[in-house]
Amino acid sequence: MNRDVELRFAQAQWDQLYRHLYPGDGCEHAAVVLATLVERPGQSPRLLVREVHVAQDGADYGVSPQGHGRLAATFINRAVVRARNERLVYLHVHNHASDQSVEFSDVDFASHERGYPALLDITKGMPVGALVFGRRSMQIDLWWSKTERSELKHCTVVSSRIQRLYSSPMQAPKTAYRPSVDRQVRFLGEAGQAQLAGARVAIVGLGGVGSMIVQDMARLGVGELLLIDSDKLEDTNLSRVVTAFFRDVARKPPKSKLAARYARQVNPSVRCEVINDDVSYEGVADRLVDCDFIFLCADTMRARLAVNAIVNQHLIPAVQIGSKIHRAEQTGKLELFYSAVRHMRPGCGCMLCNGLISSSRLAIEEKPDEEWRAQNYGTETPNPSVITLNGIGASRATHDFLMDFVGTDVERPTAGYYMYDVFKGSWSKTNLRQDKDCSECSDDAESRFARGAAVRLPCREKTGRPQTIRARMLSLLRNLWASWIGHSAAKLTDTAQ
Ligand SMILES: [Zn+2]
Ligand SMILES: [Zn+2]
Repeated sequence: MNRDVELRFAQAQWDQLYRHLYPGDGCEHAAVVLATLVERPGQSPRLLVREVHVAQDGADYGVSPQGHGRLAATFINRAVVRARNERLVYLHVHNHASDQSVEFSDVDFASHERGYPALLDITKGMPVGALVFGRRSMQIDLWWSKTERSELKHCTVVSSRIQRLYSSPMQAPKTAYRPSVDRQVRFLGEAGQAQLAGARVAIVGLGGVGSMIVQDMARLGVGELLLIDSDKLEDTNLSRVVTAFFRDVARKPPKSKLAARYARQVNPSVRCEVINDDVSYEGVADRLVDCDFIFLCADTMRARLAVNAIVNQHLIPAVQIGSKIHRAEQTGKLELFYSAVRHMRPGCGCMLCNGLISSSRLAIEEKPDEEWRAQNYGTETPNPSVITLNGIGASRATHDFLMDFVGTDVERPTAGYYMYDVFKGSWSKTNLRQDKDCSECSDDAESRFARGAAVRLPCREKTGRPQTIRARMLSLLRNLWASWIGHSAAKLTDTAQ
């Protein structure tokens, strides 16, 4: 099997490294990155960059009179020992002046041959390697052992935009596209369309909002959809679930199957993985790890908790969409009327930091399904919901996905929480705040940031008590208390149904 590797960066680590390599002096600079290795059956191995250690010119990194750069032995040793102790992959980084294509030089390869067998002895089973940067390209020489090596498949930088880098433009995927998308190819270009055709996109929650997102993804020509929802169609869904028709209501089919049927009717070549279950179960949430993008349109806190963890742990971009129509109990006056689109990006302020995961609701949801449903429905009437408001959030989210994922020449705002307030008739933006010791998104030693499969997701087990959530509850409560102030309880929940 081809073991070319994928590499993923979050924005902060990317910016720190890129600024160090290209400060504008035209010279070569160096660093070491330490990355978590994620190996998945039938998939390319993936490296998630967790730490960047820049080499100070002159002290940690010098260039010989012949122009060959060399890291100081003490710098290498410190980083390699840390890699071994933390079970991270050591990657030596330097830059070339090249632009869209980059390769290691013969001198680079010769230094790998001299140095890496000894480093492999130190790391005791963890691979080591080198990363060379061009301005818009990258290549890797990863040593699994003294005899087995891999190159780069692609590198993904998950910042506001999702940037993809290859060792040369020749490595970028090319796909024939259906004539039906001709008009959008005139805007996105063939490379952009190939990016969509090669993408695996998850839609979690296939009610009012999620079904509209399926519609857009299918018509855009996204190659693979992961469709997750545990609910069956009800008569009251027909006013909002655009993948359902009147003839379906009597059979009450799973919403996930309706979504797949719709997507295939639009685009017969779309691949659909259908999961008729709750995303907060371990085996279900795990399927999101292979996705390029996640749309979170489920109403529960436990779904937010799981997806928030996957974003930060596996460096996968996501967006959460919800709407709210709330009337005052006494007067019936409309108090809240909005659609929210919340961008989720790793390492830069998560739903926990921003007060959007409620511990009290998590505690209710932690109960067995039947019990919490009874409690939920016993105290609450169904939330008001209308297709027009759902459409505002769904279209904003899919349009943002298109702009951020495909990489057009359109200027993009930074990630944040966007809200369309119907009273004001306009969008407002809340910038993401980050707790510096957040258990999910900070670079704290205990954080799950870029840890991949090295830590368990905060998900329920299929049988028995939901121990994973329980075990994490204390640290969650501590974080929540700090971020609680300033967030009203009403803002915490919204619906995507
Ligand atoms: Zn070089
Ligand atoms: Zn956070």
